[in-house]
Amino acid sequence: MTLYTFDGIRRHRRCPYEYRMDSRAPGWRITADECMDMAVRDAVLASETRRVMRGERISRDDALSFFWESWDRHYPDVDPLPEDAHGLIRYGERCMDRYLSACGRYDVRDVSAIGVSGTLSLPNGHEVLVPIDILMFHGSTATVCQFVTDPGLRSASELSRDREMRLRALWALGNIAGCRSVRMRWEFLGSGTSTEASVRRGDPELALGEVADIVSEMEAQEPLPRESAHCAECPYMRTCPRKLHELSLAGDPTMMSMDEGVRLVDEYGELQERIDALRRRQSELEARRDSVGESIVAFADANGFMAVTGHSGKALVRHERKVELPEDKTEIIEALRRRRLYDDLSMPNYPRLRSDIAKGVADPEVASLATVVPVDKVYYRRTR
Ligand code: SF4
Repeated sequence: MTLYTFDGIRRHRRCPYEYRMDSRAPGWRITADECMDMAVRDAVLASETRRVMRGERISRDDALSFFWESWDRHYPDVDPLPEDAHGLIRYGERCMDRYLSACGRYDVRDVSAIGVSGTLSLPNGHEVLVPIDILMFHGSTATVCQFVTDPGLRSASELSRDREMRLRALWALGNIAGCRSVRMRWEFLGSGTSTEASVRRGDPELALGEVADIVSEMEAQEPLPRESAHCAECPYMRTCPRKLHELSLAGDPTMMSMDEGVRLVDEYGELQERIDALRRRQSELEARRDSVGESIVAFADANGFMAVTGHSGKALVRHERKVELPEDKTEIIEALRRRRLYDDLSMPNYPRLRSDIAKGVADPEVASLATVVPVDKVYYRRTR
């Protein structure tokens, strides 16, 4: 049994290859952005402990000195060091100012714990650590509150799918006596706003299943590099198979014009663009055909014809019925189950089964019935 953390899962999703390299390297490494985030969150929790638990007043100087102390504690772990960390430090200070403005947004009498951590058992036998910044409880409702330094704003419906928060909600439901409902609250220190969302029935359990799937993939998956803006901060870039060819050319036009790989990718890209143009043209032609089809139906109906004749073909007009099911199938699935029709009408999710077998996370007996064939594929992405 392994204990997984949200941080580890996030790092793995950022780049599985970097995650694997980090887990083999000696020591602990964070990015400059992570250092700022940790410094702000440590400082907020230290301030909240003094303010809420001991009833002390937190001045701006107190809050900033907590931040600087925490920054100094985490900064030695930063690798690679940024050319200039001042922008990040100023941003962290602004987050502390916004924390001070947000202080009065909840009733301190409702706060039950600050910086608490629990664990949840995953269906695949592992555990996940669930940290909660502020835990509040009022009546029979718990509120799990997180401080976020990320400047991005998201809608409440997008936030309600936040997997980590749904697991915090699940932990609260299972560990707080008398807790019957949970609200999730995000304090965005980058923008100075806060958002709340209630937990929908069944959502926390779904999140547990999702995390179990991710953890199974983390264990089984060959760690493929995943390129993103983060590569600029990755210490493995010089040996990363995703970057080697690009780095060997170093953007040199002479080397690029002589390189076999560059020639092949250029040709591949050109062919892909022609295919895309054909598909766009096909969509336009299909839309035009459908519109002419509507005119044929109108003509046939107006004249009482079942078929309309042209020079080179004949169009048969039929009035059929198309069934549209609601996007959210929950009610239909429940009704089918109630009426014992579900097994007759449902079918296995074959794309998911194929994907699980390919990732090596499917049941071994089921997987042994499939043939796994090596396929070489090229995924082309325009870079300019
Ligand atoms: S350079 Fe990018 S793709 Fe390669 S290991 Fe680092 S983060 Fe992953």
